Amino acid sequence: MSERVVIVGADAAGMSAASQARRLRTASELDIVVFERGHFTSYSACGIPYWVGGDVDDRDDLIARTPEEHRAREIDLRLRTEVREIDVPGRRVRTHDLETGAETWTDFDKLVLATGASPIRPPLPGIDAAGVHGVQTLDDGQALIDTLDSTRGRRAVVVGAGYIGVEMSEALINRGYQVTMLNRGAEPMSTLDPDMGVLIRKAMQGLGIHVVDDTEVTAIHTDAQGRVRAVAADDAEYPADVVVLGLGVRPATELARAAGLPLGASGGLLTDLAMRVRGHENIWAGGDCVEVLDLVSGSQRHIPLGTHANKHGQVIGAGVGGDYATFPGVVGTAVSKVCDLEVARTGLREKDARAVGLQYVTVVIESTSRAGYFPGAAPMTVKMLAERRTGRLLGVQIVGREGAGKRIDIAAVALTARMTVEQMTALDLGYAPPFSPVWDPVLVAARKAVSAVRKDAIPIP
Ligand SMILES: Cc1cc2nc3c(=O)[nH]c(=O)nc-3n(C[C@H](O)[C@H](O)[C@H](O)COP(=O)(O)OP(=O)(O)OC[C@H]3O[C@@H](n4cnc5c(N)ncnc54)[C@H](O)[C@@H]3O)c2cc1C
Repeated sequence: MSERVVIVGADAAGMSAASQARRLRTASELDIVVFERGHFTSYSACGIPYWVGGDVDDRDDLIARTPEEHRAREIDLRLRTEVREIDVPGRRVRTHDLETGAETWTDFDKLVLATGASPIRPPLPGIDAAGVHGVQTLDDGQALIDTLDSTRGRRAVVVGAGYIGVEMSEALINRGYQVTMLNRGAEPMSTLDPDMGVLIRKAMQGLGIHVVDDTEVTAIHTDAQGRVRAVAADDAEYPADVVVLGLGVRPATELARAAGLPLGASGGLLTDLAMRVRGHENIWAGGDCVEVLDLVSGSQRHIPLGTHANKHGQVIGAGVGGDYATFPGVVGTAVSKVCDLEVARTGLREKDARAVGLQYVTVVIESTSRAGYFPGAAPMTVKMLAERRTGRLLGVQIVGREGAGKRIDIAAVALTARMTVEQMTALDLGYAPPFSPVWDPVLVAARKAVSAVRKDAIPIP
């Protein structure tokens, strides 16, 4: 007899799970029903800043697979249908058709929660004014582009200096706006240590972006028509024709909470290695709505990234389809850019290491992306953290021009393998002058870290 899996959410995690399950089970073996409250499936939110900035021409380029393509693979996809309640013991979900208002219960044998994350939108006066935009979904991106196309003024304020705020600042500069980025922290991109964040601020200032650190937004001021005219912060008022919010996200787990499913400290769902919700054999969860194990610190964290969501979906699809796969955890790798400055990080920052009681040494080195004499060689700064005494690699941050960012993957692999910085110095990396100096910058940092660990070693009495 055919089983039914119900999937809530039709983007990265949900549709990866559906597709993988369909690869393993035919429609007569497994009925796959996906509920999605939005208009789109399998789209790249990651591409929104580049679409807004004009690097990507068309919204449809960001859609990896359309609803029709999924339906052609016998996935029963129901758009504009919101799941409003989960009856765990009764194995059914209550849905609300957002077009007709109809309410329906649908039974399931297996359930997958892939509800993503919700953008943080503080309850500030004026936050819902015309001209204030988030950039979480394709609909949000389209609404922002419509505003940009119809607004005569050219002053933009970006609230938030995480990677999305930084990418959106660049997008708006590319569209000819004067951009102010308001940052609550000391330096942009608090996913890096402040001594590396300062490099990002300098680069952004070099592009003409007005970066304001250590400031807290207090209100959005509007004109007589209710359109945004300024952003008030605790230090000053910033005139604005358009405002973009990039204040981070929280796991979208209200449904799961109401159903009594286990949540971690961040509010993300807790799962086992196979992405099964803890204590529930027939329920899986993945993507931005779950917490993941940080393999470096050993703690549970909420790290909302598409790269994880897709992998979670594969693992869930395998489980739902009767196979077995696991997602062991993450080392915290992320890469981003602001114009030609590439920014990457993996593992622990100094404050993360302190928070889990690890003692560490740090080194910072300057190198180049290619052999110093080779045309196009560009400067690169690499910061590395290693554990005191053991020399275990704890984290790496890289800021530099072309060729800098994806070097972080070397460090991500070394972290996953729990290598020491000494072991890293012997890594057999490719070398030719157009690609790197004979000692790759990551290895230069590892060598310096080896010296730092040795110098720091406490002599055995
Ligand atoms: C501007 C931007 C840039 C980004 N850049 C990067 C990047 O460069 N690299 C990277 O790794 N990640 C990036 N991300 C993050 C990445 O997009 C997310 O991690 C990824 O989309 C998460 O996938 P998901 O399937 O878990 O959740 P989502 O993509 O949020 O999908 C969840 C879906 O569930 C639906 N849903 C929720 N609740 C219900 C319900 N009750 N009923 C029905 N449907 C529901 C939602 O409508 C949504 O479509 C970026 C995100 C943004 C916004």
